[in-house]
This record gives sequence, structure tokens and C-alpha cells, in this order.
Amino acid sequence: MIINNIEFARKALEFHDTIAVSQFLRLHDAIASDKGALNWHLLGSVDSGGKMTLQLQVQGSLELICQRCLEPFEFNLDIYSKFILVMNESDIPSEDDDSGDEDYLLADTQMQVNELIEDEILLALPLAPKHDDEDCSASDKVNALKKPSPFAVLQGLKTGKNQN
Ligand SMILES: [Zn+2]
Repeated sequence: MIINNIEFARKALEFHDTIAVSQFLRLHDAIASDKGALNWHLLGSVDSGGKMTLQLQVQGSLELICQRCLEPFEFNLDIYSKFILVMNESDIPSEDDDSGDEDYLLADTQMQVNELIEDEILLALPLAPKHDDEDCSASDKVNALKKPSPFAVLQGLKTGKNQN
């Protein structure tokens, strides 16, 4: 899908759709399976200060590989990003006086929505994806449960002695 992002914001357009995970080629190496689809929602608006904005939401789940046990697991995506549209690169504040969490996009009459969605997904992925501790077969906690504790072994020895 290609939009004129300035027009999208000015006219306060709104669009939502699902997209197959398999469409994201750059994501391919980061995921265990490209099955499934994600929901996305794009909303254009002009805020009270006259700034043109796009708001993007992406939701769904991806199968990632746990870096600890190398098994796949389901990672929930729930992305919300807000972008301020600017006409020129010089309108983007420099890193130094960047007041925080605002993202900027250049005015683009041919903006690829898929590309923007994929960028945001890549940013949302953990650097080292891992199961939660209790779900990971290689987690210390889970292994500790499997191994008999040294106290239980001692206890066993004691009872053994008593029985003899
Ligand atoms: Zn794991």
C-alpha cells in the first residue's frame, strides 16, 4: 500500500488491514516462522498545534527463537508509534535538542506503508529474544526444579540411615 502521507494527515484519513508476516522480507531472519498475519491501523491527523501526524498501531504475534534454549516461542507485538510529518530533513530536530520520544517522517507522496510497518516491527523486537524464565527449558529456575536440591539428597541419606 502506498500513500501520500501529507494528504493522509491533512484529510485525517484512516486505514486498517491485516498483512501476512511472510510479506516482511527484512524480518525473515529474525523470526522462526513466517506464518500468520498482523493487524495494523494507520491514522492521519493534524494536531492542535497544526502539526501533521501519523499514528501507527501494529498488533499480533510473531514466532521468535529463544536465544537461551533455541526453541521457538510466541512474541506478542503491540506497537504504537506517532510520527510528525515534516517537509524537509532540516525540519527534523537534531539529536541534541530532541525533546524525547517524538519520531519524524519526511513528507512523501509515495510512502510505502509496509516499509514503515516493517521498520517499526524491527525496532520492537528484542535484541536477544528469550522465553520468560518459567517457560524456558534452559532456564536456571526450571533446571533447579528438575535437579533434586542438595537438602533433599541429605534428607534422603538421613532417612536411609534411620531405616537401616
Ligand atoms: Zn527458552
